[in-house]
Amino acid sequence: LERESSAEPAENIKVVVRCRPVSKKELERKCKVIVDMDIASNTINVSPSEKASDHPKTFSFDHVFPMLSTQADVYNAVARPIVQNVLEGYNGTIFAYGQTGTGKTFTMEGLNEVPELKGIIPNSFAQIFTSIAKAAEGQRFLVRCSYLEIYNENIRDLLSKDQNQFLELKENKEKEVFVKDLTSLVVRDADDMDRVMTIGNKNRSVASTNMNSVSSRSHAIFSIVVECSTTDPGPGKGSLRMGKLNLVDLAGSERLSKTHATGDRLKEATKINLSLSNLGNVISALVDGSNYIPYRNSKLTRLLQDSLGGNSKTVMVAAIGPADYNYDETISTLRYANRAK
Ligand code: ADP
Ligand code: MG
Repeated sequence: LERESSAEPAENIKVVVRCRPVSKKELERKCKVIVDMDIASNTINVSPSEKASDHPKTFSFDHVFPMLSTQADVYNAVARPIVQNVLEGYNGTIFAYGQTGTGKTFTMEGLNEVPELKGIIPNSFAQIFTSIAKAAEGQRFLVRCSYLEIYNENIRDLLSKDQNQFLELKENKEKEVFVKDLTSLVVRDADDMDRVMTIGNKNRSVASTNMNSVSSRSHAIFSIVVECSTTDPGPGKGSLRMGKLNLVDLAGSERLSKTHATGDRLKEATKINLSLSNLGNVISALVDGSNYIPYRNSKLTRLLQDSLGGNSKTVMVAAIGPADYNYDETISTLRYANRAK
């Protein structure tokens, strides 16, 4: 079934929703499942919560992934076409959005020890190097990656030895935005990339035990640049193409105001809310074909400016939980995702 939408300016921007399975705790607490997904029509029904006196709510998206969806289902539908595009020299970005505990990290990273539970990031490594191995003769590839975190509007290099340093965003002569002094590592195969991801993840979790789970309140961006040079056998000089893939595990979308955050916590919560709402504004402006795209309002969107819009492909994976006690957060995530499509 096609999505019922008028024009198709949003071909390059897709919004999908994934619901994680009922957790052990939720099973023990006999929570009610309030999310019902229909994969034929790509719609989601959310039953009204006991508190709310309203009707069931229905949302439709480009794709929905019910509880039983596998990592492979998500990868093939969401990431494979984007990674293919990156190999052809275009940029692409995949975001995981949602409340903490709904499966953003499971979707992006997964469990690396179990092959079938690997997430989008390691699966993209495999696709990139498999494709390079099959490339035609005369094509040479260079693959580099970087891994950073944006916390409180400060950028930290997750691959650097010095985790206490904040990096700056700069613009070059071509008005392209880049992170000054960001580590960029050349990688030769999928195992190399796995090692890079693991180093970065360690740096993320070290900081999080010191600072009260920073990881759920920061955006992590794993970026892969694929350069391909061809030596033209004819009179030409050959060519160079470059594609960039950004894999973004966003900060948890829950409102920290609930927990009566004050002082630094409140400031931090405000910044997270601002950067997530700005991302929503940028994506919906792109979908609407608006002339003015507010990239400059947060570090996240400034940094990703050349990978959002134009020929770039973008997918937002909104993650939700199935249980009744998350009703408000689930509705808020679906509303956010709905506005982005
Ligand atoms: P988030 O990053 O959004 O805070 P996580 O990815 O850490 O959430 O997921 C929370 C918990 O739920 C983890 O234990 C994770 O392994 C589990 N989980 C999430 N999604 C799934 C899924 N689709 N299948 C199985 N377990 C999942
Ligand atoms: Mg997470």
